[in-house]
Amino acid sequence: MEKIKYFDHAATTGVREEVLQEMLPYFHIQYGNASASYALGRISHQAMQIARNRVAKAIGCKVSEVYFTSCGSESDNLALKGIAYANQNKGNHIITSKIEHHAILESCKTLERQGFEVTYLNVDDKGFVDLQELENSIKENTILISIMFANNEIGTIQPIAQIGEIAKKHHVLFHTDAVQAVGNVKIDVKEMNIHLLSMSAHKFYGPKGVGVLYIQKGVEIERIQDGGHQEANKRAGTENVAEIVALGKAIELADKELEEYNEKLTNLREFLIQELEEKIPDIKINGDRSKRLPGNLNVSFRHVNSQELLMKLDEEGFCASAGSACSTGEPTPSHVLLAIGLDSIESKGALRITLGRENTKQEVEELIESLTRNVQELRNKIV
Ligand SMILES: *Cc1c(COP(=O)(O)O)cnc(C)c1O
Repeated sequence: MEKIKYFDHAATTGVREEVLQEMLPYFHIQYGNASASYALGRISHQAMQIARNRVAKAIGCKVSEVYFTSCGSESDNLALKGIAYANQNKGNHIITSKIEHHAILESCKTLERQGFEVTYLNVDDKGFVDLQELENSIKENTILISIMFANNEIGTIQPIAQIGEIAKKHHVLFHTDAVQAVGNVKIDVKEMNIHLLSMSAHKFYGPKGVGVLYIQKGVEIERIQDGGHQEANKRAGTENVAEIVALGKAIELADKELEEYNEKLTNLREFLIQELEEKIPDIKINGDRSKRLPGNLNVSFRHVNSQELLMKLDEEGFCASAGSACSTGEPTPSHVLLAIGLDSIESKGALRITLGRENTKQEVEELIESLTRNVQELRNKIV
C-alpha cells in the first residue's frame, strides 16, 4: 500500500511522540491507583494534578473545575443529563442547535423521552445560530443552553462569547461541546461565560478514550455514572491515569503552539480552496469562509458521489471523509448539511478534508491532483 496521506484530523489524530513518552510509565512502572494513600498511589494522584493544572491553564479555569471523563461523548452526556437531573425543580427546558454532535442530540432525545422539552435552533446557510432566535426561545423554565463551539463537519465557529452573554443575562447555564475547538481556537471559559465545556484528547494529538468536562464552581450537577467517589464524586471509576497524563501533555503543547498551528493550517487550507476552485468547475465550499476551524474544508463536488470519490482516494492512500453516512447503500445526507440547506446533489457530493500537524504542502498538492483527476473521471462516467 502507498504511504498514508491523512486528511481526516476531525475524525481523530495520532498521539504525538512527546505525549506518548509522557504517558508510558503510567501503564507499567507507575501503576498506582490514584485514590490510594501510599506513595505509589500518590505519584498517580500528583501526575493527575499536573494534568488538571495544564487543562485549567489552557482554558482559563480553576484546577478544581476540571473533571476527567472517558471521552468527549461522556462529557456531553454528563453535561446534559447531569444538569437536567440536578435542575428539574427549576425547569425542564433545554436549548440546543440542529447541527450538534450525536452525543448531544441523542442525549437530548433521551431527555425528551424522560419529560424534558428541547428546542433545536436552526442555523443559517453558513451554519451559524441566530442570536435573536436563541434569545427569543429562552423561557421561564429554561435551565440549559448547549451550543457547540465549532462544528465537526463544516468547521463553523459559533459566536460563543455572545451566546455566553445571552445565557448570563437570562441566568441560564451554558454548556459548549468544544471537542473540535480545543487546540484550534483560543478558549477562555471565564471571559466567554461558559459554565460547562466538553473536550476529548484524541482530537488534539492525545489518545482515544479520555476527555474532560469543565464544570464551573457552584454549578450543581448530578452524576450519571455511579460507584466510587472519584473526580470529586462527579464521575465514578478508577482514574485512567496514563491517558489523563497524556491529555494534560497534549493540551499543554496544543496551547503553546496554537498560533503557529493555526497559521500553518489556515495557509494550507486557503491554498487548497484556491486551487480547487481554479481547477475543478461546479464546486461549492460549505460553511463560512473565515469563521471556520483552520484545518477544515468541506466542499461539494456537484454531480459526484462522494462515497465513490472516497474509494478512489483510498486506493491512492488518501484518508478523508464524506458528508453523508452511507448505511443501506442509499446515502442519507448528514443532519448538518441538511440544516445549512444543501440540495441533494450538493450533499451527495460533499467531502470533508481536515488538515493537521503532519500535512505538508506537497501532500496537499498531491491531494489536489488526485481530486482534480478523480472528480473529472467520475463526472465523465456514463450513468
Ligand atoms: C469527536 C467529537 C465528539 C465525541 O468525542 P469522543 O471522544 O470521540 O467520544 C463530540 N463532539 C464533537 C464535536 C466531536 O467532534
